[in-house]
Amino acid sequence: MARTKKNRLIQMAPDFGGFIPQGIQNRNGKEVHINFEEYEALNLCDYELLTQAEAAKMMNVSRPTFTRIYESVRRKIAKAFIEGSPIRFEGGNVEIASWYKCEHCKITFTLVENSPKVCPLCKNYIITENK
Ligand SMILES: [Zn+2]
Repeated sequence: MARTKKNRLIQMAPDFGGFIPQGIQNRNGKEVHINFEEYEALNLCDYELLTQAEAAKMMNVSRPTFTRIYESVRRKIAKAFIEGSPIRFEGGNVEIASWYKCEHCKITFTLVENSPKVCPLCKNYIITENK
């Protein structure tokens, strides 16, 4: 039996379904699927510009696990771009937590339930909750 995967924390799921390449028809069979944990890994590293170590902390996964997720999403995006395949966002082992913003380093982050309300990067206690 497969080991049950631990849920990964994400700040939020994308509010759109994916991407369709311009000027391409009949590519339905070549769709690339990106799950929400992969989407979040890309968001944290290449959009929020966190290091992989910081991003792993944010998603509550080990550094090697994070690297696997991150490399997977980059390969998928490269494949879609090079081959002109549509991208669809879908599920994954994720938990969407309420999120917080650190007033000191300005990052947004999630917290595991019942953990102290402290910024995971700078340990600042002054954080704003967003529901
Ligand atoms: Zn902070």
